[in-house]
Amino acid sequence: MARYTGPVCRLCRAEQKKLMLKGDRCKSDKCPINKKRPAPGKDPKGRLGKRSDYGRQLREKQRLRRIYGMQEKQFSLFFERALRMPGITGENLFVLLERRLDNVVYRLRFASSRSQARQVVLHGHITVNGRRVNVPSYLVRPEDEIAIKEGSKGLVVIKEALKEFGKSGVMPWMHLDPDAMKGKFLASPRRSDITDLADIKEQMIVEYYSK
Ligand code: SF4
Repeated sequence: MARYTGPVCRLCRAEQKKLMLKGDRCKSDKCPINKKRPAPGKDPKGRLGKRSDYGRQLREKQRLRRIYGMQEKQFSLFFERALRMPGITGENLFVLLERRLDNVVYRLRFASSRSQARQVVLHGHITVNGRRVNVPSYLVRPEDEIAIKEGSKGLVVIKEALKEFGKSGVMPWMHLDPDAMKGKFLASPRRSDITDLADIKEQMIVEYYSK
């Protein structure tokens, strides 16, 4: 499946919002959003045109899709699955996205960004319940144990990312043992638990796909 390989900061500039795609750089002064760089192709002094409802729904969908680093096809399949689940579709979508193995690896601080987590998974450094899993879209279940493979524990990229744990901890639906380099996905989060993405309006995404 073709993936976007251009500069990722450009994606944030297109949304004019921080998508946190580059780990530590996103929290630094080097972030183009912090510097108020305009959207690609826009005059820095130009005014943003008024968006239609469809335009705003599209932008919200693109924003969430890019945050989780997914291609359109896979994202729409996730949405269809969320639609078939009992409960509120927008909340179901978040639960499914949070259960992705690359996201769980990122949330457990084994990587400093979701794209780096994807690489860590693809390169076979992760085990789930003791078995190696190298599929980023693998859906983790409650009580699953996610660990760094024994032979990969010395990797600098993982050690560096884990240092962040001491600063901010992990999300409440996970448990991390940083010394053993393993963690547990305790339970699927509720939408209200995902506080770092509280500003995403999932109802707009549901409306986008309902057209
Ligand atoms: Fe987005 Fe991070 Fe780049 Fe800032 S540094 S524009 S948040 S990817």
